[in-house]
Amino acid sequence: MSDCLFCKIVEGGVPAALVYQDEAVVAFKDINPQAPLHVLIIPRKHIATLNDLAPEDDALVGSMFRAAAAMAKEHGYHARGYRTVFNTNREAGQTVFHIHLHLLAGRGLTWPPG
Ligand code: 5GP
Ligand code: ZN
Repeated sequence: MSDCLFCKIVEGGVPAALVYQDEAVVAFKDINPQAPLHVLIIPRKHIATLNDLAPEDDALVGSMFRAAAAMAKEHGYHARGYRTVFNTNREAGQTVFHIHLHLLAGRGLTWPPG
């Protein structure tokens, strides 16, 4: 997906503050952080929305959540608490159409979300 911002980050064509990467996922700091820790965990593979997941992506999504939990622990938030969010399509506020798991931590997070 040559016109996808997050594919460009995966490929190194757009700079990002990378915090983690492995063979399946890349994680980087959100450019407009909504909490002291706000990281986006994305698959290297282009998938536009959660609606586009296939059964063979199950392990990939598991890897995204495990990477989020590992980063929350690394930053000392695993016991205090943290939030992991996928926004899907317009009413949820999805603006980049390459799935990304938001990891938010470091402040009290209200519920329900806005
Ligand atoms: P969404 O609204 O689609 O769930 O989340 C997209 C996120 O990507 C937003 O939190 C936004 O701040 C972040 N974002 C958009 N463009 C860039 C960018 O070029 N670099 C980084 N690091 N984050 C971005
Ligand atoms: Zn993409």
